[in-house]
Formats: sequence, structure tokens, C-alpha cells
Amino acid sequence: MRDQFPNNLLIRILSVQPNRSIFLNVMKVSFPVIALSVLFVMVQIYFVITFFPWTYPDRFYYLFITSPIIAAITAAMLAIPLVWLNMEVVHQVQRQQKLVEQASDQLEKNIEQRTRFIGYVSHEIRNPLNGIIGITDSLDASDLDEEYKSKFKLLKDASLDLGAILNDILDLSKIDSGALNMNPMPTNLIHVISDLQDFWMPRAESKGLTMRLKVSEKFPPWIYIDPSRFRQVANNLLSNALKYTDKGYVEVTLDCDKDLKTAVYSVLDSGPGIPNNLREAIFDPYYQVPNVLDVPQKIGTGLGLPIARQLAEQMGGDVWIRSTVMKGSHFSFSFDINEVAPSDIPEEVIPSLNMDFTGKTVLVVDDVQTNLLVASEMLKKLGFEVETAINGAQAITILDKRQFDCVLLDDDLGDMRGHQVLEQVKQIQEKTRFISYTGNILDSHKQRSYKLGMHGFIAKPVRMSTLKNELDRVFG
Ligand code: ADP
Repeated sequence: MRDQFPNNLLIRILSVQPNRSIFLNVMKVSFPVIALSVLFVMVQIYFVITFFPWTYPDRFYYLFITSPIIAAITAAMLAIPLVWLNMEVVHQVQRQQKLVEQASDQLEKNIEQRTRFIGYVSHEIRNPLNGIIGITDSLDASDLDEEYKSKFKLLKDASLDLGAILNDILDLSKIDSGALNMNPMPTNLIHVISDLQDFWMPRAESKGLTMRLKVSEKFPPWIYIDPSRFRQVANNLLSNALKYTDKGYVEVTLDCDKDLKTAVYSVLDSGPGIPNNLREAIFDPYYQVPNVLDVPQKIGTGLGLPIARQLAEQMGGDVWIRSTVMKGSHFSFSFDINEVAPSDIPEEVIPSLNMDFTGKTVLVVDDVQTNLLVASEMLKKLGFEVETAINGAQAITILDKRQFDCVLLDDDLGDMRGHQVLEQVKQIQEKTRFISYTGNILDSHKQRSYKLGMHGFIAKPVRMSTLKNELDRVFG
């Protein structure tokens, strides 16, 4: 910033510090001013003594009167431009700082607006997507002929891909705005990894791939970690391996160092591998390896790995790759181990309670007809007796007359907000479990829902498995 001033050299000589106050800057330059004044006075004394014919006391009187005048004139002549210069520097810097502050405020506002916009758009897309995913999920395709069956599968896969893309975009925007928070809790990682393995096994089998899982014996069973964020990273690496490998194997390992400080989750595959020069590029948003290996381009967004790396960094680790082209890839994801003390291990954690909901009553409240239909279909399949309401007022009228075991409440009901309905009926529905059924999947919104008295949270687009897990948890 200093370089913008023409008298840059002078500023350096006088060591003007733009961030120091004007007073301190002036004090700093007072030394050369005093030194020059004294020098001028000494020169005058020398000249008077050497060349003037006067003797004492005339010489003394002359010097006594003129020395302070010369010192004062010298000091003033130096001090005035120096003080001006100081003030100019400090003011200029203050102006620059103000501009920088304004620009960074504007940037923050823009990021906030963009996050809000993405949140809003994703919420709006989630409603129709909820309809597509929910209905395809609940339809039974077994009676369809082969051609329709494969088209139906394409429709289902495409809707799931769209849901995954939406989540990636939302995550990326959360990372950009610093709104991505970790929620560590006691977690049994071996359960999480085994569940993932079970989930992907049919895919591996359908491609004829061998899938192996190796967990180090010394790995502590319970650690503090955000289970859903861990699952997201682990799932990305595993699903990539299965996506890009067409023959051979996919192996997952979970290991830790001997001090139990750092863990590494690795996925090894016998797929196409990644050329040396592209190993960092794949961690750039939207980057996908070009079709150089005679491997057909697979569907994806190129967002999975950059998000995985950011999440791993927030867990105290990283994601990296070793690979040999045409032989395979070895992705590793490291994270900190914070062991759970034996006294803090949750007493009874049953991954899936498989509760029986037969005969239980539920009211689904949503202002979008498709969402009502999707949730009702799924809840009926779980054994619930279902009633629906299309807005807040209708829900309150129904809840005034009849007790329900559970209420699924959309956030935005057109006439009122979901939590306002809860507020109005919670006195008469004391034993009812209220579950937020919403397209706003931001963590902050989830926390807020719990604060407002919700017992559970289901994000749209809803899937049968997530709905069931959440109901198991809420009723368990
Ligand atoms: P996506 O898979 O959605 O394209 P990712 O960010 O997860 O996005 O991956 C970025 C790119 O890295 C992929 O497009 C692919 O080219 C490459 N890649 C990732 N995992 C593998 C793998 N196991 N084998 C080969 N290439 C991979």
C-alpha cells in the first residue's frame, strides 16, 4: 500500500508505519527533527565564534536570542511536512482499510445471499423430487415386462442421481460459506462401515466384483465422530471404486496407528487408475478425468472428492490417492481418533429396531399433494393408519378432535409454519411424536426444529429406508 505514495523513500527513511497512530508516527520522527535543529544551532555557534569579531557578552546575547529562533524555524520547517506526510499516510491507509472492509462485507453478503438462494432452490427442487423418488420407491415393478422394468430402473436411478447432485451442490455452498458444521457423537465405525458394505454388496455382485472388508483388530470400537459426515466420505470413495471398476475387486480397510491417534479408511480397487499428473486435479470441484483410458465416462458431477477432502480436513485428516494406471487406485481417508470413554458408550445402540407400527396413527401435513401421497404410501406400507391435511388450519382442526401417535409436519404450509401448528396443539397432543418433514436440510434448520419441540427430522426427498430408520429412532 505504501508503494502508492510518491514519497515512498522518505516514508521508509522516516519509518512511517501506516498502522500506527498519527501521534506515535509524529513522535517517531521527532528525533531527526530535534537532531537537525541542534545541528543547525551548533553550526551557527561555530560560525559566530570563528568568524564574528564580537566578544563576550555581545556574542553570548546574540547566540542566546538567535539559537532558539534558528532551532524553532528548523524544527517547524521539518516538522510541518513530516506531520502532513504522516497524516496523509495514515488517512490514506484508513481509507484503504475502509474500502477493504466494505468489499469484504459485500463479499460476505454475496456468499450469504448465494447460500440462501441455493438453500431456497434446493428446497423448491426437493418437493417435486420427493414426489418422483417417493413414488418410484413405493411402486412395485415386479409385474412389469422387461422393457418397462429397465425403463423404470432408469427413472429410479436418474431421480436418485439428481438427489445426490442436489446434496453435493448444497454441501459445496455450505463449505464456501463456512456453514458446514461437524456434529461429533459416540459412534461405532465398524457398524457404519459394515452397513455401507451391505448396502453396496448387490451393486458389486451385479458387476461381478469381489468386495472385501478388513478392519484392524486394534481399532477402537467407539470413537467421537460425525457419523453422517464420516459415512458421506467413506461412501463417496467406495461408490467411486464400484462405479469405475469393471472387473476384479474392491477392498475396504480400516486401520489406525499404534498410539490410536489417527485412523485411515482406505478403498483399493482394480479399476482404470488415475494418471500421475491428474492426481491433484481430481480434488478440484467439477473435475473429471477425461476419457483418456478407453474407459467410458461415467456419470457424476466431479464434486464428490473435493467435498470428501474438505470434510476429512474438518475431521483432522485428509484424502489422498496412490494409483497405477490400468492396475487400480488406492484412496485413503485419514481422520483423528477421539476414543469414547467406557462410561460414555451408549448403553443400547441397536442399528435397526425394526419396530412394528401396525395400528399406529399418523397425520401427514403438507401443502403439496404429491408429498402427502408419497409419505402416506410409505407410512401405510409400514403399518400406519394415515390421515392427511393440506394446510395448517386443517391440521389444527383434525388435531383438536383426535389423538395421533405421530404427526409429520412440513415446514412451510402456505397458511402457517409447521412449528406454529406444533405450538398450538402440543397441549392436547402431549404424547404425540412430531417429526419435521422438510425440504430444508441445513443443519441449522435441523437444530432449530429440535429447539422448537420436534422429536424427529426427515428431509425430502424421503426414502423408505430413511423414513423407517427415523421412525424407529423416534418411537424406540
Ligand atoms: P464423480 O465421481 O461424481 O465424477 P468425484 O469427485 O468423486 O466425482 O471424482 C472425480 C473424478 O475422479 C471422477 O470423475 C473420476 O474420473 C476420478 N475417479 C474417482 N475415483 C476413481 C476411481 N476409484 N477410479 C478411477 N477414477 C476415479
